[in-house]
Amino acid sequence: MTTTERRVDLFVIGAGSGGVRAARIAAGYGARVMVAEEYRVGGTCVIRGCVPKKLLVYAARFREAFEDAVGFGWSDTAPTFDWASLIASKDREIGRLEAAYKATLGKAGVEIVESRAVLHDAKTVRLEPSGELIRAEHILIATGATPSLGPSIPGIEHVISSNEALALDHLPARVLVQGGSYIAVEFASIFAGLGSQVSLVYRGENILRGFDDDVRQQLRMELEKRGIKVITGATVTAVEPHGKHYTAHLSCDMQVAADAVMFAIGRPPNVRGLGLETVGIKIAPNGGIAVDEYSQTSVPGIWAVGDVTNRVNLTPVAIREGHAFADTVFGGKPTKVDYRCVPTAVFSEPEVGTVGLSEAQAIAEFGDVDVYKTSFRPMKATLSGRDTTVLLKLVVDAASQRVLGCHIVGEGAGEMIQLVGIAVRMGATKADFDATMAVHPTAAEELVTMRQPTLRHRRKAAE
Ligand SMILES: Cc1cc2nc3c(=O)[nH]c(=O)nc-3n(C[C@H](O)[C@H](O)[C@H](O)COP(=O)(O)OP(=O)(O)OC[C@H]3O[C@@H](n4cnc5c(N)ncnc54)[C@H](O)[C@@H]3O)c2cc1C
Repeated sequence: MTTTERRVDLFVIGAGSGGVRAARIAAGYGARVMVAEEYRVGGTCVIRGCVPKKLLVYAARFREAFEDAVGFGWSDTAPTFDWASLIASKDREIGRLEAAYKATLGKAGVEIVESRAVLHDAKTVRLEPSGELIRAEHILIATGATPSLGPSIPGIEHVISSNEALALDHLPARVLVQGGSYIAVEFASIFAGLGSQVSLVYRGENILRGFDDDVRQQLRMELEKRGIKVITGATVTAVEPHGKHYTAHLSCDMQVAADAVMFAIGRPPNVRGLGLETVGIKIAPNGGIAVDEYSQTSVPGIWAVGDVTNRVNLTPVAIREGHAFADTVFGGKPTKVDYRCVPTAVFSEPEVGTVGLSEAQAIAEFGDVDVYKTSFRPMKATLSGRDTTVLLKLVVDAASQRVLGCHIVGEGAGEMIQLVGIAVRMGATKADFDATMAVHPTAAEELVTMRQPTLRHRRKAAE
């Protein structure tokens, strides 16, 4: 171990969404910043999360586009698909983005250390394996989360996570995905769209726990229409290999034949081996690093942002937390992140967009709630002949008429919810929605034309 110690104002561990933003903004305030990355600059979102996934989502959606085209007069719409070419293009784009991230950090004056880093003491970081020590006035832990494959069932060594799913050398003919989260349904949709036969196995009673129940129901129905076999109330208990093929044994006594078995059952915060215990950093009950509203850990001068804190595990949230940290510590502007009304999308086929409270959450919190809901065949399906419906739903506080939540399942739901999110966050009422002129002909126009509640929940029936 070297005794020479370099000194910086900020040392960031992890060059993902949160770490990169924090490093760049802190450097902009004049801080001397160093960031360590043990894998690839850009982190989960850029390298093996949102971005590569969305590129595969685009690829998978061409299947329906080709099929639907026939209803609009096109013919010869049955092209072939080449997985290797898609993955190569995706890898090129990820490489380009990684280089762009490095260049942006460099331009901002941030020094990148391509190495693992751990806490040596409350003011020192140790690079591994070199053992070099770096003194830092502030340390930011932004190490993200990693996929967990759960308990060690027989054959677990054959199971892949989303990391490997994004880099398979061929498209598996049959895929079993275990999990009910957004990542599980997104990958189920990707594989199904690209032509695999897909089974989705989830231990709970329905997929997308935590989302509005109508959304969960609608998406399950739509996935099933697209040929995905959804098996709920079951878990994979063993994966039996037969050469390059597998039999997955389920707790419900079913067996599923597959050429790839992927688990998307959770992403625990990346806290192990960081030396947190050495300096006495507390872990929250949710398994993430415990932080206050400014992302400060239990040790002064050590901060944590993003998935490693297990607050809201999304890229824009990690970025916002990283930015708020830099404003607070180096910009002289103490800034808290506002976690109300975080809009989010699930890039399944069809897409889900959601913001605010689900019907159940609104009833629990507000009691008297009006629900406006519509489900209809989108215009495109009239000529394409596709068996699909769109769901649009508004959850409204009966007393104030404020829109508490908006839930959409259908094409473009992710794009729609970004904009609806602004209105919901600003406290728009149902009357504000109604007063907004419709954009015609769109699916989204139904959001401003639903006149009568489909359901009125009241705490007590009138005496
Ligand atoms: C398949 C998938 C799809 C997703 N899709 C979406 C989406 O559509 N929209 C969305 O908002 N979010 C999505 N997410 C979540 C999103 O990627 C994360 O919320 C986000 O990346 C969190 O950012 P972060 O900065 O906390 O951590 P990360 O981006 O995970 O960055 C942490 C970095 O730290 C590095 N690291 C860890 N330990 C060390 C160490 N000791 N030393 C040095 N480096 C270290 C890691 O290699 C990593 O690069 C997806 C995630 C996955 C897995």
